[in-house]
Amino acid sequence: MTHNLPLSAARLWDSLMDMAKIGATPKGGCNRQALTDTDAAGRAQLLAWGKALGLTATIDRLGTIGLLRPGRDPMRKPVAIGSHLDTVPTGGKFDGVYGVLAGLEIMRALQEAGAETEAPILLINWTNEEGARFFPPMAASEVAMGLADEAKLLAMREIHGEASFGGELARLGFAGEAAPALWRDIACYFETHIEQGPFLEERGAPIGIVTHALAARAVEFTVTGRDGHVGSTMESRADALAAGAELLLAGERIALDTAGGGMASITRISVTPDARGNIPSGTRMLGSARHQTTAGLEAMLAAWQAAADRIAAARGVGIIMERGWGYPETRFDPVLLGRLEAAAGQRGLAAHRLPTPIGHDAIHLGRVLPAAMLFIPCHGGLSHNEAESITPEWAEAGLMVLADAVIETAGLIR
Ligand SMILES: [Zn+2]
Repeated sequence: MTHNLPLSAARLWDSLMDMAKIGATPKGGCNRQALTDTDAAGRAQLLAWGKALGLTATIDRLGTIGLLRPGRDPMRKPVAIGSHLDTVPTGGKFDGVYGVLAGLEIMRALQEAGAETEAPILLINWTNEEGARFFPPMAASEVAMGLADEAKLLAMREIHGEASFGGELARLGFAGEAAPALWRDIACYFETHIEQGPFLEERGAPIGIVTHALAARAVEFTVTGRDGHVGSTMESRADALAAGAELLLAGERIALDTAGGGMASITRISVTPDARGNIPSGTRMLGSARHQTTAGLEAMLAAWQAAADRIAAARGVGIIMERGWGYPETRFDPVLLGRLEAAAGQRGLAAHRLPTPIGHDAIHLGRVLPAAMLFIPCHGGLSHNEAESITPEWAEAGLMVLADAVIETAGLIR
């Protein structure tokens, strides 16, 4: 360690609990879905904390917030730390929030010490990481990295309603003026997050060094059968739901049979005419597939397409398979990962390398610039759940390792 900053795990914990009051649910979780009034209140709290530290706030056209602490060298690009304050409807206190507030605590410690860094440090709160209200997830970081279309996202309607992404930004006063591409002008990016899986807790390791993200792709199946009375006959039916059920199980089978860790799920199904007395004539199914490698994912999707063709022929229905949102296998930056790992070692914290099968803004950043992710454990691997929990010790471990790596990267002067 080359620094002795007054990092306070207790202050970080207090801020986590303060943020958890915004959108608190009766079961102890949080509902701060993107671009709702509660999300706006969470953002306002972050801005107030940033203002108290004298940080310069910038808001881009997608509502993403940056809080900048200047460095001594005007030629150096900022070292960025980021995550998200938005949650799913029945979310917990830590998913995303921990990464933002750990970054804030680093800013507080620097300020308290009167310390200066060579490079500026930038804290980012990405809009709509979760994708619970507006699809897709990680939407603003994807646009910021030049990987998705800004106008299309601004026009996006909420999943269960008519409000638009851009309309809600304007209503809440978070439609900023900066171009989202602004966030590409950084030296590198660090994101810390709860694991959302049981790996670290089971191994008694407080630190996860995230080596890469699995390739992921959303899929959508449209099955077209033929309407009919359920009491007519079992012969010559074209049952779109029965075909859909086979498709769902085919995906599960393909994932289980794929070497090297395949995953596939159908998570939403809608049926037409959705009437008890009718043989379903239409089924729409949404899901996703994942694999360690992009090639492995492509092979799984090809197998799922072949299964769809086979089921369609056997059952006399039409099946269209479409690919949606996703990302390739993404490797995080080895130099930054090494810095995180060394920091854990110097602090005597057990660290394990692991990939992330779950999406994070860091993945889109890692596709175009040096980025790294750090995990801390969460109890039982539970997340996207109001009972999601971590220990103060895990929170402290992640804060220390993140701070060490960020400070080393930015260069501490005093
Ligand atoms: Zn998250």
